[in-house]
Amino acid sequence: MKEKIKEDDRSEGQTLEDLVFFVAGKFMLKLSEIYLSIQGESTFTGLPCIFIRLSGCNLRCKYCDTKYSYETKFEKSSKDILKEIQQYKLIKLVEITGGEPLIQSEIYELFLILYDNNYKILLETNGTINLKKVPKYVTKIVDIKCPGSGFENSFLMENLKHISLQEDEIKFVILDRQDYDWAKVFIKKHDLQKYIILFSPILEKLEPQKLAKWITNDKLQVRMQLQMHKYIWKSDQRRV
Ligand code: SF4
Repeated sequence: MKEKIKEDDRSEGQTLEDLVFFVAGKFMLKLSEIYLSIQGESTFTGLPCIFIRLSGCNLRCKYCDTKYSYETKFEKSSKDILKEIQQYKLIKLVEITGGEPLIQSEIYELFLILYDNNYKILLETNGTINLKKVPKYVTKIVDIKCPGSGFENSFLMENLKHISLQEDEIKFVILDRQDYDWAKVFIKKHDLQKYIILFSPILEKLEPQKLAKWITNDKLQVRMQLQMHKYIWKSDQRRV
């Protein structure tokens, strides 16, 4: 599989190494922070994970808990990002998040250099930007925004074609009963039961017990998740 992707990504007469090192040192990515923590969401919850938070977002969700990522704190090339995360030696799980990471086209070079250095890559994206160019080796965790966010019509429906049933995950962040009902209808209407679906209650806004009850009452085939990092550390603590 890896060899196949390598072939697809290179131009004629160019080795992968040529390509990676040409592009990785050339363009700069805008960043908010890079740190090691415990993965608090998705089916990778609980694993040590390096977070690369890119800056900038095309949405302004009402409940956004990473507003600080709207502003750029520093810039780095993909090659320098790789150097920085290599300090974490044994940790080979990386999440690229934001903000909205896909608004920076330089991200595709970062995917390639991380992949070529044997990292398992997770991408958190808000679902509004076309996923067509995201390589198959990247596990996508794709938000579908509910009404509570203020952006319930923002999901790009075409993206359903680019979300893998086995590898990727679809996430609904649930603020209240209205969001829950909206998500339930959306899943049914667009036949999403076949995907891996996450329901995540917003901490301090929706009691997990309530969401658990709604899911079990409806026998909904979704995976409920809590933002584990917000339970380990304070809910507003940064770099966790
Ligand atoms: S998409 Fe994410 S980062 Fe952007 S405003 Fe919404 S919650 Fe915040």
